Amino acid sequence: MLPTRPISALSTLAVALISIPLTSALSGIVTDPTQVDKQTFDYVVVGGGLGGLVVANRLSENPDISVLVIEAGADNRDDPRIYDPSQYSVAFGTELDWNWPSSQGRSIKGGKTLGGSTSINGLAQTRGQRAQYDALATFLNNDDGGGYWNWQGMFTGMLKSEGFSAPNDQQKEAGASSNPAFHNDSGPLQVTYPDGIYHGPHQKYFRDVVSSNFSLVASQDADDGFANVVAFHPNTIAWKDSGHRSSSATAYFTPVSERSNLAILTSQLATKILFDTSASTPKATGVEFGTSNGDRYTVNAGREVIISAGAIQTPALLQLSGVGDSSLLNGLGIDVVADLKGVGKNLQEQTMDSVGWTPVDGFDPQGTGPSDMIAYPDLLSLSSSSQNDIASAITSNVGSYAQDAYRAGAVVSVDAAEKIFSIQQELMVNRSVGLVEAFFDTGFPNGGLGIDLWQLLPFSRGTVSIKSNDPFTYPTVDPRYFAADVDMQIQIAGLRMARKIFQTDPLKSIVTEENAPGFDTVPENNGDGGSDEDWRAWIQQGFSSVHHPIATCSMMSQDLGGVVGSDLRVYGTSNLRIVDASVLPMQLSAHLSATLYGLAENAADM
Ligand SMILES: Cc1cc2nc3c(=O)[nH]c(=O)nc-3n(C[C@H](O)[C@H](O)[C@H](O)COP(=O)(O)OP(=O)(O)OC[C@H]3O[C@@H](n4cnc5c(N)ncnc54)[C@H](O)[C@@H]3O)c2cc1C
Repeated sequence: MLPTRPISALSTLAVALISIPLTSALSGIVTDPTQVDKQTFDYVVVGGGLGGLVVANRLSENPDISVLVIEAGADNRDDPRIYDPSQYSVAFGTELDWNWPSSQGRSIKGGKTLGGSTSINGLAQTRGQRAQYDALATFLNNDDGGGYWNWQGMFTGMLKSEGFSAPNDQQKEAGASSNPAFHNDSGPLQVTYPDGIYHGPHQKYFRDVVSSNFSLVASQDADDGFANVVAFHPNTIAWKDSGHRSSSATAYFTPVSERSNLAILTSQLATKILFDTSASTPKATGVEFGTSNGDRYTVNAGREVIISAGAIQTPALLQLSGVGDSSLLNGLGIDVVADLKGVGKNLQEQTMDSVGWTPVDGFDPQGTGPSDMIAYPDLLSLSSSSQNDIASAITSNVGSYAQDAYRAGAVVSVDAAEKIFSIQQELMVNRSVGLVEAFFDTGFPNGGLGIDLWQLLPFSRGTVSIKSNDPFTYPTVDPRYFAADVDMQIQIAGLRMARKIFQTDPLKSIVTEENAPGFDTVPENNGDGGSDEDWRAWIQQGFSSVHHPIATCSMMSQDLGGVVGSDLRVYGTSNLRIVDASVLPMQLSAHLSATLYGLAENAADM
């Protein structure tokens, strides 16, 4: 990211002269906060996760620019729970995981460690549908930010981040394929197929059943922007060296850790953004940080503060700093710096259930994974298998969902919600985007074969709100799961389809019985795949969060409740931007990270 106005050589020199003597001794990983206290860096980045490390890497390519990243977690790159792909989920619930409690007794995971959630995530690398990227500008009165916020701009950003290795012969034999037109082999993030790719018949059987019976195309490479297909997807695996996880830390920090103008302070929480409120527009001047024992320090930002603390902590930090809905801030005695109603609203999180089947005796998956076969059924493939008329359920309820979201404080106005929902409706009903993800999972649930199924594009909107002015108290996180009933209808349709996939040959020939939910819990109901009532009861009782929160500081126009504009600057402030999942205004038919790497590369290119 570069300053918005071109700065003269003289002022560049001045900045360099001011900042370098103060910060030149600091580079690499710093653990002593007193070394940073009262120093000045050109850019101070809050959060050393996906967004933060991409931006920090790209900004510090210029040796005259000094960059500090403040990360709440430690540097755990040497911890096998982080680097070993086979240890996925072992970090959950430990000191490496924020593990925010959310409503309805659920929790949302997030990496509290260098690399953020990319250090603990599932390594699936998938891109969304072209139409979804093209829709980004429609949230901004058709301002695409000079070409960044459409398919072409996002594709460019995603390519820039990617260091792709096409499948080798043994991976091809297992079914993997790719098209070089949609990949870059020289970006920082290493992307490839696992050496332990499954050679058993099951992943191909899944692909064959879905493409032959559910009108989804079997794609050779789903990274082309036509994601409503069934395909092998690559993983973020470091093929150039270890075969370990390729995270934002290993991809964007490790190779440049010797840069003298880049420092990362670990195990310190940013507790407040500091503003100069004497100007007509409050100007971000630095960051206060510290630990839960009460120590507090400050650091100055000569040019900008960039918040990349993720979709839960970024709105919380803004609220703690006086940027948010005045009615929330006044109640907590926080001085209002900018009365920005959209902060913490528009939260979108997905809901997951897993259908499981027991393999036949002697079944051998012939590999260690990770699993890499995914289908993204669109409306047509879903509704033909479930007889649910989801299109009319969406169309006839947009108005009532908008009113409900407004009553719950999750949108800034009914009018705004109706506009946002109409963009979403168009994509879901008329543009063939995937409505659910069907992730074919070897070994889960119950050690057998399964389909992890989540509804991708919820109409339910929720909130993130601080409940105290103590920065170490977690905010209230309420995604309002299933507040819009069509979210439940789509989840049911997807699960019914998942059950049916296992009941279809050739997949049927390698399984014996359904072990989750099982026909006792959700009876077949005369062969229609289970009644709505039975599925509903099972889903409500057992669903989990997908750990994909977004949109709590959305990149939208202000009338829609946006928090940042197309340049990612926070409305009503200066010298303050956001680069993380909180700015993505709507979910995509994909996992998030490929898109967010593209978004962060675009941010750094501005
Ligand atoms: C369990 C799990 C599985 C996932 N699986 C996949 C997958 O398979 N494929 C995929 O594409 N995506 C997946 N994702 C999603 C993806 O990893 C995230 O969406 C993405 O990393 C979000 O990027 P971000 O920059 O918004 O936040 P993060 O990458 O989470 O980074 C935020 C960073 O900010 C730090 N921080 C927060 N508050 C503060 C503060 N006040 N001061 C200092 N530091 C702070 C955090 O500790 C963290 O390091 C998964 C996520 C999770 C949690």
